[in-house]
Amino acid sequence: MEKDCLFCKIANGIIPAQFLYESDKLVVFRDINPEAPVHILIVPKKHIRSLNDIGEQDRDVLGQMFLLAKDMAKKEGVNKSGYRVLSNVEKGGGQVIFHLHLHLIGGWKR
Ligand code: AMP
Ligand code: ZN
Repeated sequence: MEKDCLFCKIANGIIPAQFLYESDKLVVFRDINPEAPVHILIVPKKHIRSLNDIGEQDRDVLGQMFLLAKDMAKKEGVNKSGYRVLSNVEKGGGQVIFHLHLHLIGGWKR
């Protein structure tokens, strides 16, 4: 756990949050400032700063993050209508929380 990292604190239960999913490696919760009707965050419990910082040792957890994105899209009812999965990398990429996460965004009426 990284001191002063908000998502470390949420993922490891130091700051309480309502999880939509939790395993030994990952948590999922709703974005506090949603950009769409469905906006959830898929967050590893391990502190990884961004995609720039992943390594071989993270293969499993990264695979789990994407498998979970697929499952959560179905649970949230956006798998058929469609959705986005994205990860912002560093300031220029729009990252504001420097703990790796996937955004799952969808549910627009189009
Ligand atoms: P990023 O720009 O990829 O770093 O995204 C960080 C996201 O975390 C933003 O969409 C924020 O709205 C969201 N966020 C920040 N604080 C919280 C929080 N306490 N609970 C849930 N989502 C949060
Ligand atoms: Zn962290």
